[in-house]
Amino acid sequence: MANGMISFTLGLFLLMCCYSEKIMASDPDPLQDFCVADMESKDPMAVSAEDFFFGGLGQAGNTDNAVGSNVTMANVMQIPGLNTFGISLVRIDYAVGGINPPHTHPRATEVLVLLEGQLLVGFIDTANKFFSKTLEKGDVFVFPKALVHFQQNVGHENAVAIAALSSQLPGAQIIANSLFAADPPLPDSVLAKAFRITQELVDFIQKKFA
Ligand code: MN
Repeated sequence: MANGMISFTLGLFLLMCCYSEKIMASDPDPLQDFCVADMESKDPMAVSAEDFFFGGLGQAGNTDNAVGSNVTMANVMQIPGLNTFGISLVRIDYAVGGINPPHTHPRATEVLVLLEGQLLVGFIDTANKFFSKTLEKGDVFVFPKALVHFQQNVGHENAVAIAALSSQLPGAQIIANSLFAADPPLPDSVLAKAFRITQELVDFIQKKFA
């Protein structure tokens, strides 16, 4: 891209920052056609279709685990060509009764489409209001950026969903794991006071995550 065009784009961006009343708080817009991640930007002449491709969402993930779900990620770690574009995908498989446990994505809004099965979904806003729906095949639900949310398979068959996230690397923080499986562990006194339970019960829960 010509230097003049870059200067013009940067100038326009700075003008928008100064004069727009809206606050811009998302991944930055791309400044060039692509900037494929390879620690540093890959030489455009060396970029190929493989940098924009991932063949991993066709197979079901293994849901034989404590929560009965599996998330297969398709973000910039799998697809370097996503670098700077502010978008990524996941496939989520759910066994009957399985949950994608309450979690947040610090950098992304998520929009999920249910491909098979029946899902109870929900999120909680910062006023602790709970928003929830039961999704049927083809239904779509939005989980606003950084809010705590979950899905549970409430049908009689396996369920599968695809979700798009507004970050090349959304991050995921599973609430229960963060609090009860941190390394090193949080002090019992903190968790006991926070959850209004005994320290013995804290130890009991922590052992479940060991
Ligand atoms: Mn999520």
